[in-house]
Amino acid sequence: MRISIYQNKSARSQKVSDNLKILLSEHKHRFTFDEINPEVVISIGGDGTLLSAFQKYLDQIDQVRFVGVHTGHLGFYADWQEFELDELVDSLLQLQPQTIKYPLLESIVQYSDGSQKRVLSMNEAALKQISGTLAADVLIDGELFERFRGDGLTAATPTGSTAYNKAIGGAVMNPSLASIQLSEIASINNQVFRTLGSPLVVGPKEVIRVVPLKADNEIILSHDHLNETTDQIAWVEFRVAHEQVSFASYRHTPFWRRVRNSFIGDEVVD
Ligand code: NAP
Repeated sequence: MRISIYQNKSARSQKVSDNLKILLSEHKHRFTFDEINPEVVISIGGDGTLLSAFQKYLDQIDQVRFVGVHTGHLGFYADWQEFELDELVDSLLQLQPQTIKYPLLESIVQYSDGSQKRVLSMNEAALKQISGTLAADVLIDGELFERFRGDGLTAATPTGSTAYNKAIGGAVMNPSLASIQLSEIASINNQVFRTLGSPLVVGPKEVIRVVPLKADNEIILSHDHLNETTDQIAWVEFRVAHEQVSFASYRHTPFWRRVRNSFIGDEVVD
């Protein structure tokens, strides 16, 4: 098995990474370290680390499976704790993992100069205006749906639904649903301006287009943890990507248990 270990910069993650390398090196006939062309990427850190690992291996996303080791923070995606490295290595040696695939977001960004780029996100894309209110038309499958005014909009994958999307009142969605959720960030809703005022979810064949009304206003466009500031956005389209992200699951934690563990905890008070 060709393995790449990807850790964040913290001393704690670095130590876990070193320990894991030692354990894996005891089985040289089974594991090789291959940062360029791995089959399995073991991310050590939190969800932010996994997002960086995802970006690093984006061009080979169909061949790579991820495993998350959690060192502090939330670690929503991580199945393994830092003190379970022996068990993780045993599982890599002995078990056939289930491959769990989750949908990704495709964003097509059209710039005013005619250039275009395509970006994949694991969590979401967000559009926010730097100063003043973002005014933008929202079209679904080419038809005007609403004229938005407010701080911004996010388009989230089901896996990203527990991240930024959740913080702005979006619903948590099971990643088995190939879908994209559009959520509003502080929309203005009054007698003059009106939007749906709640998140909406589109299916795998639908396309959301966001057209800023003043293309020359400075906007922050983010894809997961990466962002750009530009005054050149003509429009951005969001849809479910044909690519998916794969996790090698050696011990499956059902999605709703993961949500409960991360956001509710164990305590049930009468
Ligand atoms: P960050 O600002 O350092 O961390 C954002 C937090 O979101 C971390 O606690 C991270 O968990 C958690 N997180 C990331 N993906 C998650 C997921 N799918 N489900 C649940 N929690 C998740 O930024 P970062 O670490 O580079 O991550 C970028 C992400 O931050 C973006 O994709 C966006 O979703 C999120 N974000 C959230 C807000 C907000 O909630 N108001 C604002 C901006 C961005 P770990 O601690 O395990 O890394």
